[in-house]
Amino acid sequence: MSVRLPLLTPAVPGLRYSCHGCGACCRDFTIELSPADMERLDRQGWQAELGVPFWTEFRGRRWLRQRSDGACVFLQDDGRCRVHARFGLEAKPLACQLFPFSFAPGPERARVGVSFACSSVQRGLGAEIASHGQDLRRMQAELPEALSPRAAPELLQGLPGTTAEVEAVRQAVDGLLAQGEIPWAVRLVGFAWVAQSLRLANLDTVRGDRLGELVSTLARAVPEELPLLDDMEPSERSWRLLRQAVFARVEDPKIPDLQRAGRFRTVMGQWRRSRAWSRGRGVMPAISGWPLVRFDQVEHATMPPSGPEADAVGELFVRWMRAAVLGDRAWGAGLHGWPVFEGLGMTALNMACAAWLARAHAAGSNRVQVTLQDAQQAIGRVDRTASRAVWLGSTGEHLRLAWFCRGDHLRRIARSLFRSEPRAGAAAVARAG
Ligand code: SF4
Repeated sequence: MSVRLPLLTPAVPGLRYSCHGCGACCRDFTIELSPADMERLDRQGWQAELGVPFWTEFRGRRWLRQRSDGACVFLQDDGRCRVHARFGLEAKPLACQLFPFSFAPGPERARVGVSFACSSVQRGLGAEIASHGQDLRRMQAELPEALSPRAAPELLQGLPGTTAEVEAVRQAVDGLLAQGEIPWAVRLVGFAWVAQSLRLANLDTVRGDRLGELVSTLARAVPEELPLLDDMEPSERSWRLLRQAVFARVEDPKIPDLQRAGRFRTVMGQWRRSRAWSRGRGVMPAISGWPLVRFDQVEHATMPPSGPEADAVGELFVRWMRAAVLGDRAWGAGLHGWPVFEGLGMTALNMACAAWLARAHAAGSNRVQVTLQDAQQAIGRVDRTASRAVWLGSTGEHLRLAWFCRGDHLRRIARSLFRSEPRAGAAAVARAG
């Protein structure tokens, strides 16, 4: 008989959620249907009403049918779900009920992750996460993989971690991010620095309590250490690799498009977009719903200078990172099975991609400084794919992260992206573009 793991929700100030019926998740996501979902929706008799099956088969699996604009076939004009409106929350596919939550089972608990792809989560609107406990436990009961204990994740590939070690890392990293007396940009750049340092550490002989001490010493050292590190600008190669990482996070193929285009045209389209992102010249490939922008314009946009807007942007980035760490969306079952120290690096890279995208959104909206709205759009885009897109768990992504960590590139690029003044040479690059 399986043991039902207790659930632990992340306690992060401002982390809240209630559905406000914007319908964005029903346009953004492609929902795979389990046999139980198929049976439940079948019983509701939708086929006769819709005139077409509510599902479509793609690459051997069944998915909720999408309209030509990518929206779910059940999404009404008023933004509400037709299944929910008629039969209630529990009548919907489980993935729809669960969003924006996810479960990451561990040895003693399943941690609840919260996706910032949801605009209510981004804005901190709704009820505290812990208040959703009853619904979460009901949904957990329907997911066998969320019920039973799992081993603690590896620390690095081939190096198993213990529950106590992973907890020590979690507390140390969250402790850094939570320190309100340290400016938020320093905490975020410090997070990137800690993540890359741990990714490179030789841990064979530093285990148990000593590992906890090492991580907490590193995290506590951030305010004193960061100013001592060089202030070199990221190399052009760093920017190119970052744009490629952004491309991997904004690429969002929809089943109707894939079916229309066929494999060859799909692959060619991806290859062309990938080249455009890599070259970083001319107009940035379109992101659905975003303003068009030239790559060189992004160079001019900066984070806002200190003030209420900067505080709001910083609070959002910090809340996102803390929710990822405390909700186990920064490694292990919540992040493509990545080991803890690689997962932290990947999470810091996600953060850098979102900071770059926030600048792109600001520049496309004719602003030179990032606003809270730009940051919300950018974080929403990245968190939509971060733990979901299978290619983000690939060897290529591991190699990209390894490169960023090896040469201090991750810290340098985070430092450049969270600054409130233009990076040196931006004007020259813009003119050359
Ligand atoms: S079934 Fe309902 S909740 Fe799920 S994606 Fe479709 S419209 Fe949205």
